Amino acid sequence: MADVALALGITLRGNKAMCFNGHDAASPSFTVSKVRNTWRCFGCGEHGDSIALVQKIHGIAFLDACKWLSDHFGIVSVDVRLGRRVRPSLRAPSTKSSDPPQATTTDPDSELYAWLIARCGPVKGALGTAYLQAHGIAPELALKCGVVELVDPARAYCVLEKHWGAERIRSAGLSGKRRALSWSGYALLFPFKSGGTTQYFQVRCLQSNMKFFGPSGIPKPMYNSQRLSQLQPGSLLHICEGVPDAIAMEGAGLAAVAVLGATSFRSEWVDELLPFDLVGVPDGDAAGEKFMKFLAMEFRARSKSIRFAVPPRDMDASDVIARGMNA
Ligand SMILES: [Zn+2]
Repeated sequence: MADVALALGITLRGNKAMCFNGHDAASPSFTVSKVRNTWRCFGCGEHGDSIALVQKIHGIAFLDACKWLSDHFGIVSVDVRLGRRVRPSLRAPSTKSSDPPQATTTDPDSELYAWLIARCGPVKGALGTAYLQAHGIAPELALKCGVVELVDPARAYCVLEKHWGAERIRSAGLSGKRRALSWSGYALLFPFKSGGTTQYFQVRCLQSNMKFFGPSGIPKPMYNSQRLSQLQPGSLLHICEGVPDAIAMEGAGLAAVAVLGATSFRSEWVDELLPFDLVGVPDGDAAGEKFMKFLAMEFRARSKSIRFAVPPRDMDASDVIARGMNA
């Protein structure tokens, strides 16, 4: 259960984490039971097993979640083909709980991420250009932000493996036990750069039921965090919920970072954000409302005011900017 939570980008402290529903401020209420192999949130009451958690976080159906898990942890394909029983990583490890689980000993691999992204092309495919346009991101802006398209993940894996080896790809969080990238179909890659290095990237899948993928086991950083060092204290800074929103706002001349959901929010970010005039930009949906409450609580706890610019119902910031741009 802990392996799966970590693979989904949930940062556990012991067996606790901030709930993905965004209601936690001071104390985490999402709890993993390593004995029962289940999770439960003592704040909102949601609970389930590892499959249910994958469904929740990726917003996919049961069978797609099963497929994601088996691909990621090599539960069926690898173990069966090898003809030997390998202890599935989904089972509670028999080792002491202080040992980090094997399947998740991953570190950000900036070198490999940058190498991969440099070998992907600018967004040209119809799916990608339509996506960017719908999100208010002009082609030049996408180029400037380093957004690229990856058309064929199977081929990309072969090229990666030839250069870096399967183990390095796995420990960079891009593959499970199967020799394949953890997503399928055409996708856009959004690099997270900091100090000239690519510390992370978000994959927006446009041909699969799974919408987003980020390197497994790597805590999601803040998007565009390098912006903070370029801003004068007191400057206006927008905190968006999604990467495309932050890019679209930057394109409209507004300083913006993105925080990828309450689960990835780290309390040390509050300190980095304190010097600025903050405007939260949640999506115009139920999740956005939770995100807004979450941010409000995080900053209220530090006596810092934050305003909110809420887009109309069922729209996000980039939709609003796209309407303006395409009109
Ligand atoms: Zn909860």
